Amino acid sequence: MVNNSFANESIRCSVTDCKFHHCDKNYCSLGTITVGTHETDPKECQCVDCESFKAKNEGLA
Ligand code: SF4
Repeated sequence: MVNNSFANESIRCSVTDCKFHHCDKNYCSLGTITVGTHETDPKECQCVDCESFKAKNEGLA
């Protein structure tokens, strides 16, 4: 069970479909996250991703 009652105010996030998103506030509930890129030569913000993302219903049958 994910505990997302903690709001890490150092990590603002609006991805409410992520299971680690805080329920009420636009923060991540993790202590740390990993950011990466899916591009070979990233040039814009859209080129980078939160690699800690997990879909809210991931792992549920
Ligand atoms: S893991 Fe990434 S996408 Fe998910 S709430 Fe935290 S910062 Fe947002």
